[in-house]
Amino acid sequence: MNTFDVVVIGSGPGGYVAAIRAAQLGLKVACIDKRKELGGTCLNIGCIPSKTLLHVSELYWKMIHESEQYGLKSGPCSYSFKDMMNRKQKVITSFNEGIAALFQKNKITFLPGIAKLISPMVVQVAGEQIGAKNIILATGSEPTGLPFLPFDEKKIVSSTGALTLSKVPERLLVVGAGVIGVELGSVYSRLGSKVEFVEFLDHICPILDESISKELQKILTKQGMTFHLSSKVTGADISSNEIALRMGQEQLKGDVVLIAIGRKPYTQNLGLESVGIVPTSKGTIPIDHRFRTSVPTIYAIGDIVDGPMLAHKASEEGVAVAEIIAGQNPIVNYLAIPNVIYTYPEVAAVGLTEAEAVALGMSVKTGMFPFKINSRAKCTGEEEGFVKIVSDSISNVILGIHIIGAHASELIAEGALAIQNRLTTLQLAHTPHAHPTLSETLKEAALSVHHRAIYR
Ligand SMILES: Cc1cc2nc3c(=O)[nH]c(=O)nc-3n(C[C@H](O)[C@H](O)[C@H](O)COP(=O)(O)OP(=O)(O)OC[C@H]3O[C@@H](n4cnc5c(N)ncnc54)[C@H](O)[C@@H]3O)c2cc1C
Repeated sequence: MNTFDVVVIGSGPGGYVAAIRAAQLGLKVACIDKRKELGGTCLNIGCIPSKTLLHVSELYWKMIHESEQYGLKSGPCSYSFKDMMNRKQKVITSFNEGIAALFQKNKITFLPGIAKLISPMVVQVAGEQIGAKNIILATGSEPTGLPFLPFDEKKIVSSTGALTLSKVPERLLVVGAGVIGVELGSVYSRLGSKVEFVEFLDHICPILDESISKELQKILTKQGMTFHLSSKVTGADISSNEIALRMGQEQLKGDVVLIAIGRKPYTQNLGLESVGIVPTSKGTIPIDHRFRTSVPTIYAIGDIVDGPMLAHKASEEGVAVAEIIAGQNPIVNYLAIPNVIYTYPEVAAVGLTEAEAVALGMSVKTGMFPFKINSRAKCTGEEEGFVKIVSDSISNVILGIHIIGAHASELIAEGALAIQNRLTTLQLAHTPHAHPTLSETLKEAALSVHHRAIYR
């Protein structure tokens, strides 16, 4: 039997990063995935295809709705959905090949097939058994469905189906106004669909600071999307040409329904029972602070363990678990993990919201700075949104940074650096920022905590 120091099950951003880091540390590594393409959910049916479509649909939307305000004139503007989808696939394929090249460079053995745990040190794949001194489970997650609306991935779609539709639907109903819902809803709204959201809560994107969530809803509504909040889908009537969602007495009709109510850990057919690992009631795999499951040779990371379901969280854990197996003592700082929503404008946050900090009994001071008085935002015409900083009122340590505005996904890196290093608002404020840049909004928000903003 071929035996490896580390066998990683799952080649998503948790698994492939763990495999590469373990190989860098001199370990003999195999990585198994039931897809023949590497990269997991993130690359094949998640982050990368969605961001590719978000970008191109944003360009189209701006050409239609904003070009005149810049003094740009062009002929009638249209798009080929098929070409957009083809480009998306090309982007995916180039990264599939890129990860394969990294595996080759690091001498990692890739084994395609469904992996099953046979014992604490043996894994079965494609009818063969391989030995493993250590096993890392990184099998990710899958979309949660509604029992009365089973996915057919054509008319009743999960995010996976929404990323591979053959045409733009005239009417798209989105159940769930969370991150994935508002991103994919934005794509189709920009391409011409009438998009309506049904959300159980009284606000959208519940992970966000309340002020940001309200602002995002206001902006998306202005862009033409409709939100039915505090509404629950209780049933559906499906006919050959439309789907009617029942919400109590009310009905909403659409051509395609996207169910985006969340994701759940994926551990089907993994053979957890043969090694005695018992998932929690949420389906996550219990681990200790060193990612070790109840079986000492088996570790778990990424979407199948607790914490935010984010690619970079999975990757941080991937690096850490490889280093732990190699005898090191890394730490993942969960407070410094940013989250981003790639709407237009973007939303990004890191650390605690004001409400979370207050609930923890902290005394907080906040600072805010709007994009509309930032010089770069004026130049580019991207004036919507603001930056909010939450800090400890005594030590001035930054507790959270929340941004809604253009390029927030890039700006938040400075916030993550600040939280990771426990920087204070004054340290951020006293750091020179280039002019004119959007990043000056962070400096000014930090100054505004101390009532010292220059431009406000
Ligand atoms: C539409 C969408 C958009 C997203 N956008 C973002 C974003 O912008 N930023 C972000 O940070 N996150 C985003 N995410 C979330 C991100 O994709 C996940 O958090 C991330 O992929 C989790 O990584 P992972 O390595 O834990 O698992 P995954 O990426 O899910 O990979 C798990 C892999 O394990 C394989 N597998 C499962 N069981 C077995 C088995 N028994 N044998 C062999 N192989 C198996 C699967 O085939 C899969 O390839 C998005 C998700 C979706 C759905």
